Amino acid sequence: MTDCLFCKIVAGEVPADIVAQTEETVAFRDIAPQAPTHVLVVPRAHHEDVGALASAEPALLGRLFAAAADVARIEGLDGGYRLLTNTGRDAGQTVSHVHVHVLGGRPLGALA
Ligand code: AMP
Repeated sequence: MTDCLFCKIVAGEVPADIVAQTEETVAFRDIAPQAPTHVLVVPRAHHEDVGALASAEPALLGRLFAAAADVARIEGLDGGYRLLTNTGRDAGQTVSHVHVHVLGGRPLGALA
């Protein structure tokens, strides 16, 4: 999708601090980290949100979460981590290309 920020990061047209890649996914550091480790994991293919991805390619959704778990291992989040995916306006989704936030590196507290 031509005007999608994360498609541009996947294509290398917008710079990002990439921490891991697979044939189907790219993981890069969030530009405004909310925890010591804050990485976004996206599929290379454009899907608007997690529901759209689950409908179109459910197996890829599994591999996206597997890639997120790999990022947690690579980043040494031995104490635990949080995977988060916002969907829609009320959840605060600001980029309409499904992404999993990998958060960790300190006690994260309750999900408020
Ligand atoms: P969400 O609010 O769940 O849609 O998450 C979008 C995330 O993308 C936010 O946490 C932003 O800080 C992050 N973000 C926006 N632009 C960039 C960028 N150019 N590189 C890395 N992360 C970004």
